[in-house]
Amino acid sequence: MLILNRRTRMLWLALAMFLAPVLPLAAQGIPPNPPPRQAASSSALDTAALSREALVWLAQLIQINTTNPPGNEQAAAKYVVGILEKEGITPEVLEVAPGRSAVVARLRSSAISDPSRALLLVAHMDVVGAERARWSVDPFGAAMKDGYIYGRGALDDKSMLAANLATIVALKRSNARLNRDVIFLATDDEEAGGEASIKTLIAKNWDKFAAGFALNEGGEVVAKNGKVQYIAVQASEKVSVNVAVVAKGTSGHASIPTKDNAVVHLAAAVAKIGTYSAPVHFTTVVRRYFEGLAAISDDEVAKWMRSLESADRAEHAQRVIAETNPQWGAMMRDTVAPTMLSGGVRANVIPGEARAILNIRLLPGDTVDVLLGALTKVVNDQQVRFEVQPNAGLAAPTSSLESDFYAVINKVASQDFGGAPVLPYQSPWATDSSQLRLHNVQAYGLWPFPVTDDDLKRMHGDDERLPVASFNKGIEVLLHIVSDFTVTK
Ligand SMILES: [Zn+2]
Repeated sequence: MLILNRRTRMLWLALAMFLAPVLPLAAQGIPPNPPPRQAASSSALDTAALSREALVWLAQLIQINTTNPPGNEQAAAKYVVGILEKEGITPEVLEVAPGRSAVVARLRSSAISDPSRALLLVAHMDVVGAERARWSVDPFGAAMKDGYIYGRGALDDKSMLAANLATIVALKRSNARLNRDVIFLATDDEEAGGEASIKTLIAKNWDKFAAGFALNEGGEVVAKNGKVQYIAVQASEKVSVNVAVVAKGTSGHASIPTKDNAVVHLAAAVAKIGTYSAPVHFTTVVRRYFEGLAAISDDEVAKWMRSLESADRAEHAQRVIAETNPQWGAMMRDTVAPTMLSGGVRANVIPGEARAILNIRLLPGDTVDVLLGALTKVVNDQQVRFEVQPNAGLAAPTSSLESDFYAVINKVASQDFGGAPVLPYQSPWATDSSQLRLHNVQAYGLWPFPVTDDDLKRMHGDDERLPVASFNKGIEVLLHIVSDFTVTK
């Protein structure tokens, strides 16, 4: 791996930023400059032209390497600022940490803002790393191939960022009469969730983007055989907590083994933890998700989905559903995944301590203490104890399934995706939305681009890509939802 010193890196970055927008795009047949603006009204926006512009933004955002760590979101922030300023929207850059910034911009509905009515459009600018050797194209090249745009961030989350940009730009160009403020927010440090993340942003700058409603990543539009099956709108999420399992024993010479060897006790504890299944319980969101999914699933799966809480077949049904799709299993219960092991300093020394890390995902409302109580019983070993690690996630309230905004998402998304049902969704993973929900925001995860399971699996993986047709459709639907909720007819 090439290690660059700071100066070389800055120079390289500057050069990359200068060259990136022109060379690869032209080579790939993407127009380097957006087509001329079209006059548009909110009812008759030329979404096709807008999508072509947004595709250029997406490509150029992919070409700005914001791999976190270190993030370097400042470069992407500058790019976003440039687009907004050209449209006559005044953005503000929020400096979060050195090299790391967020961007906020607002379309006002009246001279005095009412934050409780405002709609916040959120997307993050950072991406996870890419193993170049495992990709068929340059992860930061934004290659166009077979109707797809390839690149790290094509799914997560630069497509959403470009779509949010397109939405606020469209509203501005159409001089839409807004009945609530629309706020655009591009965040940093989502993937690492560290010191520069939304938590800090909220602590320092909440007044700049306080809102009653938000749209963020976290949901999905599931497509199969060219047809949208359903739209999952994230309304709540599980809570991530890391716990260390610590086994202690007597250290000594490995030539004389003892029964209290910490490595042996740790291994036995982890093996027992691996077989543990927490009790099932259904939150309102998960219950409604399975009810909706049963209506469009094949008969066999639907039968078991409908029996998840039946008096006599619940246990069997829960097992069948969890085995059919591990994600469904994770939606029903707290989960525990051992992820790291450490112990020992020499091959011939029995260590006095060995440790494992468990990544625990709690259902909202559950506490880690109750789960650890159960694991203590399962492990049943005086030499083993649990230590909750710092920076545990916080449980946030669930966003309402009765809000006006959820009703609009429900109506418009279903209509625009050929009558496919909208299902409320509780994601097994965490997003920035929990921090928003903790500040009384009705935040919904709507990632509006229809994709197949196969493409979705490339998120954080190799050859991440998004069909251009899905990108265009997603922009159309997002704009439709936001207009319906914010524009006075
Ligand atoms: Zn993301």
